[in-house]
Amino acid sequence: MKRALILLTLLFPAHSARCADGGAAEGPRIRVAIYRGSPSLKLKTSSRIYALDVKSGQKYMLLDNASYEVRPYGGGISVSGQQLSSPIKLLAQDGQERIRLGGNLYKGDILIRATPDKKLDIIEHLTLEEYLYGVLPYEMSPDWPLEALKAQAVASRTYALKNINPARDYDVTNGVEMQVYSGTKKINSRIIEAVNETRGEVLKFKGKLVTAFFHANCGGHTASVKSAWGEAVIKPLYGVTDPYCKTSSHYRWDLYVPASGLLKFIQARGSTALKLKAVRIAKKDASGRAVSLKFTTDKGSYTAPVTELRKALGNYEFRSTLITSVTPGNGGYQFEGRGWGHGVGMCQEGARGMAYKGVKYRKILRHYYPGVSITDI
Ligand SMILES: [Zn+2]
Repeated sequence: MKRALILLTLLFPAHSARCADGGAAEGPRIRVAIYRGSPSLKLKTSSRIYALDVKSGQKYMLLDNASYEVRPYGGGISVSGQQLSSPIKLLAQDGQERIRLGGNLYKGDILIRATPDKKLDIIEHLTLEEYLYGVLPYEMSPDWPLEALKAQAVASRTYALKNINPARDYDVTNGVEMQVYSGTKKINSRIIEAVNETRGEVLKFKGKLVTAFFHANCGGHTASVKSAWGEAVIKPLYGVTDPYCKTSSHYRWDLYVPASGLLKFIQARGSTALKLKAVRIAKKDASGRAVSLKFTTDKGSYTAPVTELRKALGNYEFRSTLITSVTPGNGGYQFEGRGWGHGVGMCQEGARGMAYKGVKYRKILRHYYPGVSITDI
């Protein structure tokens, strides 16, 4: 049932927008885009909440157990027909800022913002430490040893902090393109312990934050940031040998690709070839990753970057550019390789291997990011 908004004026005191969760309320804050580009939203309330029109300062009460339609309207936002300015902030009645959206519970301040192309973004503002509680269970299994979880907490904290940019509408997204984050859903005591025991600790090199990349499995050697993305290389992201991820099930992979699929890939890039005669690795980087592949065809040879082929075939199937062999057969090519992911920075399964051997998180981090200092924000 749709309900009208009840306008509250100055009768209600403005309560704190901060979360009242002990120590996690301290330190830097981060803005996470938890929904982007929605044409409309259905807001179902399980308790009484308030919508604050940030510009006018007017507060509207949303009744409990009711459904509200939220849409972009003009430059602002319409909530069940009531026009408000953009952004609006949702406030829980008890000041705890607990809002449930899409089955997830969020403890931060929730802002709904109309975008210039008339869509809605939902952005959660929360402390960096609370954000990490919601990142860690998605980036590493909560069952993994504590020292690995602590290493991940420091890497994730550094990576997030490096992305904070007040010039944008939000700092990070909540998907795999950055770090997966899903509110308070999977938080448990081990996650809280890993974050709290490393509170405020970040990775720096020569006084600057390191872009602390990480990936599932490096296949025995991590990649240099230069060969992965062409970024200027610094010592912590140059790539290291890793003997600790060998026993993981993701250490090796193989994928059969029909010749037609490879032809389609080079044709989409401008090749006029109709027949594929051979495929071989044309160039490797210092970590052993294939940089480019040479396709011999009926119309001469064609060279393409392996990262592009991986993107075209899917990062889940074509697990890494650390290709160990390409073998023809059965009308296609069998690719064999090692590792999973881009290979830059910390190898998560290697971190787990080190933790199982009793290595502490600081030593794990110094192995994967050599030369870094682990310091307080
Ligand atoms: Zn590894």
